[in-house]
Amino acid sequence: MATIIPIADRSGDDAARRRDTLLRAAADATGAAAAPPVDALGRGLRDLRISVTDRCNFRCVYCMPKDVFGRDYPFLAHSDLLSFEEITRLARVFKAHGVEKIRLTGGEPLLRRNVERLVEMLAGIGGLDLTLTTNGALLARKASALKDAGLGRVTVSLDSLDDAVFRRMNDVDFPVANVLAGIDAAAAAGLAPIKLNMVVKRGMNEHEILPMARRFRGTGHILRFIEFMDVGATNGWRMDDVLPASEVVRAIDAEMPLEPVDANYAGEVAERWRYRDGSGEIGVIASVTQAFCRDCTRARLSTEGKLFSCLFANQGWDLRALLRGGASDAELGAAIDAVWRRRDDRYSEIRTAETAARPKVEMSYIGG
Ligand code: SAM
Repeated sequence: MATIIPIADRSGDDAARRRDTLLRAAADATGAAAAPPVDALGRGLRDLRISVTDRCNFRCVYCMPKDVFGRDYPFLAHSDLLSFEEITRLARVFKAHGVEKIRLTGGEPLLRRNVERLVEMLAGIGGLDLTLTTNGALLARKASALKDAGLGRVTVSLDSLDDAVFRRMNDVDFPVANVLAGIDAAAAAGLAPIKLNMVVKRGMNEHEILPMARRFRGTGHILRFIEFMDVGATNGWRMDDVLPASEVVRAIDAEMPLEPVDANYAGEVAERWRYRDGSGEIGVIASVTQAFCRDCTRARLSTEGKLFSCLFANQGWDLRALLRGGASDAELGAAIDAVWRRRDDRYSEIRTAETAARPKVEMSYIGG
């Protein structure tokens, strides 16, 4: 097997240049509240995904394959992670610069000890749509504490109802029944509407599309089918493995007729469809075959506090260095502003076999 550097961020020489740019931007802070930034392609900053840990208790074959993320994998040390206080402080600054929605992710966010305390601190900021994406393994245990702490909703990843397929995909022999129990607990706790994410990989779980649709139709949960993406550098992505979202819609529509629904808001990643008989809705996230970069308002904060302006980036901007270097909120805000204003990422629109092979940051580190 080729040597894979399962590295978080390949900043290299450019890191110093980026640090200088950030420091200069921070030094230019006037303290005055500026208008929320708009990037080089006219996109605002609305959503922030925060990766609270790079660790996961699953080894999904398309995300954290075991042969790379094995026993000896150098996960980040606790001191490298942003503390809850640092995350909350940054979240407050991001909110002042346009962010309306925060999603906690990872890695597996429920593995971060006392994550409900972080939820409580973020909820204390007020005025934020607060959500979390999880593999559901610990959800039955944590759902009501998360709700009590102020979490609005959860998204649960679930790639198959077939226990054998599910165990093969998570690659740690985790039973699907426990995730289903987690979904029920989240519903009982009121973390609704619950979204369920199914990554569809051709030849692996496409035969589960219809059983999943049948199972969750009429439950109020929103099942979303995600095209297998070329995130990171370790999942062996090939275009041939991508099942286009249009095929998913066609297959479901043939048995359970669908009609399109307008987006809830500009920039919504999922294309919405509802069952014509009124029994609910599904979504498809076609980031490979129908790129939605032009509406992308998402920033990502990595586990160790680097700001990434695209899921497919290979470098971030080190906000932790500013935080730990004593920057004021105005300085942090000016740095975030500067990063956003120069953003011109549109990776999914320019994806080719060649770009897919380039080094990219792992999703577990940057936040899925
Ligand atoms: N551990 C949490 C979970 O399982 O939901 C949060 C992190 S996980 C990286 C977030 C989402 O990214 C999951 O729904 C996962 O299935 C999805 N994902 C990971 N790798 C992907 C890929 N190559 N293509 C599409 N989706 C992917």
